Amino acid sequence: MTPPNVLLLAIDSLRADAVFGPEVATPNIDRYASRGAAFRHCVSTTTSTTPSFSSILTGCYPPKHGVRGLQGYRLSSSLTTMAEVFAAGGYRTHAEVTGPLLPQTGILRGFEDARHRQGYKVPFFEWRDEVVDRMHSYVDPWFMLLHIWEVHRPYRAPPDFTKRWDKAGYQAAVRATDEWLQPVYDACGDNTIIVITGDHGEDYPDTAFQQKLIRLARKSRKTLRLKSWLPALDQRFQSLSVGHGFALHEHLVRVPLIISGPRVSPATIEQQVRHVDLFPTLCDLCDLEVPNGIDGRSLRPLMEGGTLPEEPAYMEAVGVKLEGNRIAGARTADWKLLRVGTAKPALYRLNGGGSPDEKRNLYGRYPEVARPLETFIAQVEESTVVDEEAPLSEEDEATIEQHLRDLGYL
Ligand SMILES: [Zn+2]
Repeated sequence: MTPPNVLLLAIDSLRADAVFGPEVATPNIDRYASRGAAFRHCVSTTTSTTPSFSSILTGCYPPKHGVRGLQGYRLSSSLTTMAEVFAAGGYRTHAEVTGPLLPQTGILRGFEDARHRQGYKVPFFEWRDEVVDRMHSYVDPWFMLLHIWEVHRPYRAPPDFTKRWDKAGYQAAVRATDEWLQPVYDACGDNTIIVITGDHGEDYPDTAFQQKLIRLARKSRKTLRLKSWLPALDQRFQSLSVGHGFALHEHLVRVPLIISGPRVSPATIEQQVRHVDLFPTLCDLCDLEVPNGIDGRSLRPLMEGGTLPEEPAYMEAVGVKLEGNRIAGARTADWKLLRVGTAKPALYRLNGGGSPDEKRNLYGRYPEVARPLETFIAQVEESTVVDEEAPLSEEDEATIEQHLRDLGYL
């Protein structure tokens, strides 16, 4: 049997409810969701781009792959990446990526042809057609990572490309991206497994007016140095953040995951799954060997109507705004435990994800729920792999920093 090609399409900042919810029309993505396996409760590992992709591409949590921020980290050289496994299995491997996914981060290891798009400032232009042209020259079987920046802040959707920062702007960008991707799908052919996901979710203000208030709060924090004399207000203003990376709220960690194509029957899966599960799942579908010691597991049993025992998801927030105060989290269908450093954790009830309550901290009331999640976080954090590779060179570090500046992260 001819091995299937694989397109791994990661739409930056794509929330689960933008695809599975009723508010945004995404007919093209919906078509793949109804033809294939639609995972309605997929959790991203982190809410920052580079660490999230590191988990997708290695099947490992950050303590193991070592990428724990946008800056200053490189993927552990001791791990085998998804692209390396596909290449070893006879696949031609191609990457078309954007934003902070620079070759210096090590996460493009294993791609024989990795192109970083410089034009993230002007989305929705000729880049797609260049990519589609290149796809037509791919030799079967191929594996492709396509990382789309069109839904990332600021939202600039056709026809006018005006910078927007609110819900309406986000939703317009999602709608336009869904339409704009059609030629990419058309270039895939029938024998291609198409995976659609987001690297993390997004928080946006509901209105343009709210965005103005948030901007004002940010400005006051900085200019009035609120932290030093009104720390409570400073904290309050800080929590008004929008975008991603700074927290592990449901809107930030819930992403769509759709797998469709040959060997995949239609299925809607309500059980919680994790981004780290994607790598072993694709290996399973393509008869490739899964590397030892990874954190994910194949989801094929769920796709075929079977069962898998529930497993918690480990999560990290490592965004620039946290100034090094990493948030670690563990999530099940019903609960989420969050911890910053050695401070007392917080426990929130998610109610199956349908109506999560992320305001009421129930840590003191449910120790029997909190304890195992704390143990799980500790176990993941201990699973660090020692990397012999030298740290990033000054030059690589400077290149990454410049790109992050261009993207507005710094
Ligand atoms: Zn991202």
